[in-house]
Amino acid sequence: MSEEESPAQRVAIGISFGNSYSSIAHTSGEGKAEVIANEEGDRQIPSILSYVDGEEFQGTQAKAQLVRNSKNTVAYFRDFLGQDFKSIDPTPCHQSAHPIQHDSTVAFKIKDTAEGAENTVTVSEITTRHIRRLKNSASDFMGKTVNAAVITVPTNFSDAQKEALTKAAKDAGVEVLQFIHEPVAAVLAYDARAEAEVADKIVVVADLGGIRSDVAVIASRGGMYSILATAHDYDVGGTQLDQVLMDHFAKEFIKKHKSGGDPRENDRSLAKLKLESEAVKKALSLGSSANFSVESLSNGLDFTSTINRTRYELLASKIFAAFTRLALHAVEKAQLDPLDVSEIILAGGTAHTPRIASALQSAFPESTTVLAPSTSPTALNPSELAARGAAIQASLIQEFEAEDIDQSTHPMVTVTPHLAHAVGVLCISGDPASGVFRPLVEAETPVPVRRSAVIATPREGGDVLIKICEGVREIKVTKPAPKPKPAKDEDEDDEDDEDDSEEEEEEIREKAWRVENVLAEAALKGLKKGAKVEVQVNVAADLSVQCFVREVGGKGGVRGGWSA
Ligand code: ATP
Repeated sequence: MSEEESPAQRVAIGISFGNSYSSIAHTSGEGKAEVIANEEGDRQIPSILSYVDGEEFQGTQAKAQLVRNSKNTVAYFRDFLGQDFKSIDPTPCHQSAHPIQHDSTVAFKIKDTAEGAENTVTVSEITTRHIRRLKNSASDFMGKTVNAAVITVPTNFSDAQKEALTKAAKDAGVEVLQFIHEPVAAVLAYDARAEAEVADKIVVVADLGGIRSDVAVIASRGGMYSILATAHDYDVGGTQLDQVLMDHFAKEFIKKHKSGGDPRENDRSLAKLKLESEAVKKALSLGSSANFSVESLSNGLDFTSTINRTRYELLASKIFAAFTRLALHAVEKAQLDPLDVSEIILAGGTAHTPRIASALQSAFPESTTVLAPSTSPTALNPSELAARGAAIQASLIQEFEAEDIDQSTHPMVTVTPHLAHAVGVLCISGDPASGVFRPLVEAETPVPVRRSAVIATPREGGDVLIKICEGVREIKVTKPAPKPKPAKDEDEDDEDDEDDSEEEEEEIREKAWRVENVLAEAALKGLKKGAKVEVQVNVAADLSVQCFVREVGGKGGVRGGWSA
């Protein structure tokens, strides 16, 4: 396809293209997103291509080739796209085709033709071939030729990387309608559910993949999303968890077969060990124990073993702690407190791990909901969030002209000014210190914005003063009074109880508001008993504030303005 398709001819899907796995999704007639299974029945398609006598394999079939044909198998290439060879980290490719320098970019030397000659194939060409396979799988499923897509990318994907991906996709006959950030796609997938309530909230998306983990702190305000902070870690991900199990089973093997050698020291044994360890890891996300079984693991010796989840969690505890640290670090970077976080969306394949979800739940307050399969019955499949979000976005924009889509992604349009502080209302009767601040527009809300609320006034009615103010969120810390020690003769044998009570005496942290600037005041006189007051605040694009205050059911009202 050399020209862009006109909107009427577009058949668009959502693509999540990861270093480890890719997924494709489409929306059905009712706007519901669905992840498509390829010909092999996989919804998580390994981002791997392998060549045997000129025949191309992709996905799970290509992954199996890592054992016998690793040199002609290309894996973990997404992040190399559009990068200078000198800036890439080739470590993930140790057990597959090695990246080489080609001009200044990255390529692979592989035998990809029937003639068996070694060819230099650029990462761009590999990506084109991978996307072509994804496109064909989607086209077969949908019964029509897919020619456009919304593709998800990490928040730190550079313009050069996006440009290279656009070109690679175009060469595969796929017009990139838009790139959306992976964490935003995850929030979209949740917000598009019929039962979702669009509320102002701070959401942390922890996208835990195979060779990298990315966390984003997102302010969701009236259906608009702003990324407040991001954190990336290339040293923790699913492959580190595989490694823990590989080391464990290798040691067990050595213990059992003294003459069998170390399966980690032979390429083929290592590949087998890795594939089976990943399968065991996935099984441990569901069950309390899993079997490891490999024929001819090393020196012709078969090996079977069992591991239970508790043992695995112990072995991997340091890595699990690193995921929690990364999430807390991102919240800190956003200058927020864990108490500000309403939801943590766990995305990416590694997010299936129950211990990661429960560790996050313990590190954040009870008011934070952790959306993961093991902590929430309504959680969506973390492996599908990115592709689903991309498909939803594709269905929203596929009818737009190309220039309009361009416009909507142009920084001038999307980086709208945001409020630095919350704007809210104080209702005061009598004692000037009696008012409690109630936020109407949260900090980080893009402007212009209009919000209104109905607030209760003091029960007895009379005169009240309504103040529209800016509020700054603070964290109030209270140390509970030390508990009296239990009498000696009670439960003397239960030492654990004592430990627990010491832990319980942790400080209590609560959100509180500090009122900063008073923007406007309205005095309402002689209100009826139990009267309610409606307050409306409009913040214009120039940050000027207009407000309107009236008694519900009463006549007239007070209008005021304040300019930035
Ligand atoms: P990256 O780009 O970081 O490599 P990705 O987006 O390509 O990531 P994902 O599908 O998000 O890949 O995550 C892949 C990782 O998730 C792999 O390490 C895989 O083993 C792991 N994974 C997949 N399913 C499960 C599961 N059920 N339990 C535990 N881990 C899983």
